Amino acid sequence: MRRRDLLGLAAGLLGAGRPGRARAREAGRTIVVYDPVFLAHRADDHPERPERLVVIMQALRAVPALGLVAPRPATLDELRLVHTAEHVERIRRLSARGGGRVDADTYVTPRTFEVARTAVGALLTAVDRLAARQARNAFCAVRPPGHHASADRAMGFCVFNQVAVAARYLQATTPWRRVLIVDFDVHHGNGTQAVFYTDPSVFYLSVHRDPFYPGTGAASERGVGTTLNLPFPPGTPRDVILGAYEAAVRRAAGEFRPDVVLVSAGFDGYRDDPIGGLGYEIEDYRRLMGVVAQVAPGGRVISALEGGYHLGALGACVVAHLEPLLHGAGRAPATPSSPTPRAHP
Ligand SMILES: [Zn+2]
Repeated sequence: MRRRDLLGLAAGLLGAGRPGRARAREAGRTIVVYDPVFLAHRADDHPERPERLVVIMQALRAVPALGLVAPRPATLDELRLVHTAEHVERIRRLSARGGGRVDADTYVTPRTFEVARTAVGALLTAVDRLAARQARNAFCAVRPPGHHASADRAMGFCVFNQVAVAARYLQATTPWRRVLIVDFDVHHGNGTQAVFYTDPSVFYLSVHRDPFYPGTGAASERGVGTTLNLPFPPGTPRDVILGAYEAAVRRAAGEFRPDVVLVSAGFDGYRDDPIGGLGYEIEDYRRLMGVVAQVAPGGRVISALEGGYHLGALGACVVAHLEPLLHGAGRAPATPSSPTPRAHP
């Protein structure tokens, strides 16, 4: 399919929103936050390509009851909730000068600054919708991914860390101060871990392939007790990985008592992913998200696309991932969280 056709296809997907819905129904719905601008970040022969979102949005056409929401771009101040002013300015200037490579894997184009800040803005838009009770939960279909980006560095295809900024934005603008981040991308989210490594108000839990890029994510990396890594070598039976992950998510949620859950949803653990792979089948993405939906207070979950490069399976993986959100598996809201940080063995 030619690029022009892909752009037109994605732009027209899911219609133009669904006006006229009763507010009470809005409060219980699942929204997808997406903008065709996310297709404008592209480099030749790179696996992190716009077609990833095209196949996802195409697959979501078959899912009823999803509300499509357009994002706003994050402001510079919002980017600086996590990122240094120098990093934000470096990316802005590189885009303005026509783009280039940040490292061997990570590219910036003339549109990347706009695209990446809108990807962050998609999560902030989702936060605003949940806080206004205009949505129950959200999936942000965004590019470029974010979980390798640290406060001062772009790497691993990632420019700004949208999930990290969303956690800080939640804490700054909503009553939800205790944030659990669950990351099931096949790669460890070194950027997210680094941002919150000494912060007991954000719990970062990652299940990932090890040894693998970026080389971080050992089980011994515990931060102040609110970092938990589950590294698995390739060849580990899926039931072993999924069982350990589900137990860890339940234990973390039970001890940490989050107010809201953010998900770094990478689909590159799919068994045939061209750059990842951890043996997951498509249906495993239902299971990876099911336990999250169960532990999230009030069902409050905001999920954001990270990796996932198998264009033939990616759409089905995302649909499976969304099923627990659509079916409202969340429990009742938790009691107000304790201001005292707790220890996590
Ligand atoms: Zn990945």
